[in-house]
Amino acid sequence: MTRHTPRLLAAAVIVGLVGLAASLLVAQGGQRSGGGAGLGQPVPIVLKAARVIDGRGRMLENVLVTVQGSKITAIGPRVSDLPPVTYDLGDATLMPGMIDVHVHIDWHFAPDGKYGTNRPGQVRETPEQSAAAIQKNLDVTLQAGFTTIQTLGARGDKALRDEIAAGTRTGPRIVSSIGQLQIGANSTPDQLREQVRTYKTNGADVIKTFASGSIRDGGKMSVKQEQLDAVCGEAKAQGLRALVHAHDPESIMAAVKAGCSEVEHGVFANDEAIKAMKDANVYFDPNIGLVLQNYIENKDRFLGNGNYTEAGFAFMETAVPTLGPIFAKALAAGLRMPMGTDAVAGAHGQNARESIARVAAGQKPMDAINGTTSLAAESLRLGDIIGRLVPGYEADIIAVSGNPLNDITKLRSVIFVMKGGRVYKE
Ligand SMILES: [Zn+2]
Repeated sequence: MTRHTPRLLAAAVIVGLVGLAASLLVAQGGQRSGGGAGLGQPVPIVLKAARVIDGRGRMLENVLVTVQGSKITAIGPRVSDLPPVTYDLGDATLMPGMIDVHVHIDWHFAPDGKYGTNRPGQVRETPEQSAAAIQKNLDVTLQAGFTTIQTLGARGDKALRDEIAAGTRTGPRIVSSIGQLQIGANSTPDQLREQVRTYKTNGADVIKTFASGSIRDGGKMSVKQEQLDAVCGEAKAQGLRALVHAHDPESIMAAVKAGCSEVEHGVFANDEAIKAMKDANVYFDPNIGLVLQNYIENKDRFLGNGNYTEAGFAFMETAVPTLGPIFAKALAAGLRMPMGTDAVAGAHGQNARESIARVAAGQKPMDAINGTTSLAAESLRLGDIIGRLVPGYEADIIAVSGNPLNDITKLRSVIFVMKGGRVYKE
């Protein structure tokens, strides 16, 4: 869906053809926001809903949100010189566009419905089929209210990221590792540092690496400390964050010791590992609500590809009931936990299940929303641009029906999506 709404088109026409009237209208909006709006600037868009959640723990009522161009220009009560409301969303809640800090946006099921195309006799999909499936993932994610994703990551993410940023493709804003740095058994620290620099040269926003095996292989530490030290140390030296896949306590603690920015998964995190993360103040992104559940729900579509074996599924099925309690422990310890799902094939667009699972595991709804907005933005080092509804921030704004503080499942009832001031769902 790449379109301007009729209203935006109309606004553009007004600015272009009836400059005087438009500039008067703009000047009124500008006055309210204190900004210096002038001739040729876009007409403000005014959003009205029963309540506003700002992404940092505040709920406001009886306020309007004004957007001009790509930015939020004002949030406040109605004043007499404000232009008419553009979108009246009724009994909905406006909030910042949601952010998922861990997805694999390219993962999809092949045309035969299966994940992967390396089974005996399986037909390869065409590049066109693959591209269409990835675009569908982008579309369902944006339509679900996720205006930013961190994808960890594939080489093709780079083109997606850049085309979306340029406005030639529809989708959430993308931050990407543009691949995954695999630490080989014999990789030397120097080789690993070189690999980090290559990722940076190739345009990676973040480094993604692995300190443990997959959950389907038991999740045991699979690298040496000095190897992790090299990856995380060089990432830091290059000004990049390093996100480390780590399941068992040993690998989590090694990642923390190496100076990583964020630990991913942590399915077997114990008290000691949680304390290590807290002491080092690293972000922890446990994926408790979507990824393993989605694998299990789609078992027949994954089975038969790589480590998607009966034994692999047994590991995942055993892990699911432990996830909520681990999250609750990490919450009690005060860890900073931006919301990430590890969304793979079948899971895209269902990202908010993670925030819902967090509330089910004991987090307050407002804190779960913060974790999906401002805290997630902060973890991406984008905390002064997105993740909050504040004047000056990018106009990434969604509306959910009803009040998600009373019913967190409303995060899945997204009725309006704006990204950078442009409406994608109404
Ligand atoms: Zn992942």
